[in-house]
Amino acid sequence: MNLKELYQEIILDHGKNPRNLRKSENFNKDAKGHNPLCGDNVHIFLKLDENKKIEDISFEGSGCAISMASASIMTELLSGKNENQTKEIVSDFLEMIKKKDILESKNLNENEKTKLMCLSGVKKYPMRVKCATLAWHTLTSAVNNDQVDLNVEKL
Ligand code: ZN
Repeated sequence: MNLKELYQEIILDHGKNPRNLRKSENFNKDAKGHNPLCGDNVHIFLKLDENKKIEDISFEGSGCAISMASASIMTELLSGKNENQTKEIVSDFLEMIKKKDILESKNLNENEKTKLMCLSGVKKYPMRVKCATLAWHTLTSAVNNDQVDLNVEKL
């Protein structure tokens, strides 16, 4: 299996069977986001502990395989991370998705980086970039308590 096939496999797997597709019990942060260009919707739920560490992260929503896979992988990787690590991972991911082929992140292991790099191919398709980043922008809104309903078309 070459790298491209591996990446497609990961996207299909997470797209078909998204992890953490549920609503966290006792969540204390949440935000909704939508991408009208493709019809993707997500609602992110976070349960942060007293030190702002992510005790639980989940999402509800529907959309294309890229948007669902990205949300699924994101929730898997951010579980247990503290606020700073979360912010760094979000910015590392956004940097890769927009301009880099390689994901550099001191907060993730090789296996975790590979999962995120499977989304790196979308940078060739600007429309798809919105699909891949929807969950991440929505998560940032939830953490910062900004917009309750984010429209990524306007970003
Ligand atoms: Zn989409």
